Amino acid sequence: MGRIRLAPGLFWAAALLVATSGCGFDPEGDQPIAPPPVYQEWWAKTEACSGLTGNFYRVQWSVVEGSSFPCSSGQCAGHWTTSHHIFLASDWQMDEMVVRHEMLHELIGRPGHPNPPFGQGCPLTWATWNGGAAWLDVVGRVPPKSVD
Ligand SMILES: [Zn+2]
Repeated sequence: MGRIRLAPGLFWAAALLVATSGCGFDPEGDQPIAPPPVYQEWWAKTEACSGLTGNFYRVQWSVVEGSSFPCSSGQCAGHWTTSHHIFLASDWQMDEMVVRHEMLHELIGRPGHPNPPFGQGCPLTWATWNGGAAWLDVVGRVPPKSVD
């Protein structure tokens, strides 16, 4: 008949969970996916434009439902991690620019956007994709998000 009380141990376990999940860079709620066949084509194009080679099969792919997810630079449509894991917002998982942008991070092995190859060589940024016309492609969708 009394009020339900959480056991003290449970409280601290819950608090710890909130603390640890709140500060990670990895988006939450991601679903692992098998890369669709076109990704291999995009990978080959990205290797060609950058002059770099990498191991496509080392990359782990995950999709987060929606148009963006929280990331280190705000809200992202895509995010690459040094552990060869690429996260994509589900609305962008078949967007060549977003996917190949993350592939290029994997090939150069670092975050940030040194030019070249970002821009010169591989126009895989919002400003350079399609001669800067990427905005035209996204009418009817949310405005471009960061690609991390
Ligand atoms: Zn990036």
